[in-house]
Amino acid sequence: MTASRVFNFNPGPSALPLDVLKQTSVDVVNYQETGIGVAEMSHRSAEFTGIIQTAEALLRELLGIPKNYHVLFMQGGASSQFFMVPMNLLSPGQRAAYLNTGTWSKKAIKEANAFGEIDVPYSSEDQQFNRVPLHDEYAVSTDTRYLYFVSNNTIYGTQFGTMPDKGVTLVSDMSSDILSRPIDVSQFGIIFAGAQKNLGPAGVTVVIIRDDLLDKAPDTLPTMLRYKTHADKQSMFNTPPCLAIYMVGEVCKWLQKQGGVEKIEQVNRAKAASIYELIDEGEYYRGHAEPGSRSVMNIAFNLPSAELEARFIKEAAAQGLVGLKGHRSIGGCRASMYNAFPPEGADKLATFMREFRAAHKP
Ligand SMILES: *Cc1c(COP(=O)(O)O)cnc(C)c1O
Repeated sequence: MTASRVFNFNPGPSALPLDVLKQTSVDVVNYQETGIGVAEMSHRSAEFTGIIQTAEALLRELLGIPKNYHVLFMQGGASSQFFMVPMNLLSPGQRAAYLNTGTWSKKAIKEANAFGEIDVPYSSEDQQFNRVPLHDEYAVSTDTRYLYFVSNNTIYGTQFGTMPDKGVTLVSDMSSDILSRPIDVSQFGIIFAGAQKNLGPAGVTVVIIRDDLLDKAPDTLPTMLRYKTHADKQSMFNTPPCLAIYMVGEVCKWLQKQGGVEKIEQVNRAKAASIYELIDEGEYYRGHAEPGSRSVMNIAFNLPSAELEARFIKEAAAQGLVGLKGHRSIGGCRASMYNAFPPEGADKLATFMREFRAAHKP
């Protein structure tokens, strides 16, 4: 079973812990001797109530989420948060600031423009989004309702090493690095993340929201698009994505066994370092991100030519290193190594990169 699995570098949906997949394969047929699988049971059952409460409790514990925050399990993907955030937090004429550090922030800015006055005090678009800003590179006006940023730019392989600190409420899209490192949740108004990178399968989006923000929405919002609807009903206003929530809980249990976020951060750093080391060795592998902005989760890089890149991706796949093609918007190669990606895979990629470099001169 294990032998036939490859090292999966896909950016999302991405590798899940094998133990979680195995447990799911049992529970999806017969959950804890109930005779019913986890995808078949009522979301109002005692069993599922236990599952969703466990998932929330573990997320709270792992991330240190304070009591005055709600944890919501929502649908519509991270992309629906691009409109839900401004829809719920802004009234016409109110301001918000967005840091434009990649495709995902750009999409969020486009949506936000429909709901308020959106400032973009920083953009790295003219440098192909190869960096995130330092603290003193931008200013935020004092009447800004929130400062929005993407903590890890999945496509470009950049990441905020430290969080922005401008004395305003932060809203962050952490889809591709939530639970990969410790964070201080109390700095944030909203943190959201599509599950399919670091939390579980696609189909559920986790939203962590400070209580006072639940009451900011205009009266005209449809019920399903208000955070308060979901907060008041513990994410059970309607049928939640039960199986995906169950798997998020299992991923959290797995992470706890690994020693939690402090521990996994060290593992993640070591995995990334073994590849950045090769990038730092010289001209052959060129990193997309500026060194100060490098992501620990996604490493985007180029080889000396597009032909070599195509060959690299093909030969890597033949050795069981799969999913290394860069995003269509920037091309090249990308190694995504989220929490569940095993360190042996990073070692194997580093070895392959050395061999490939030696074998294929530009
Ligand atoms: C993948 C990704 C998204 C999109 O998530 P969906 O769930 O497909 O909508 C948004 N933001 C970031 C940072 C991502 O990596």
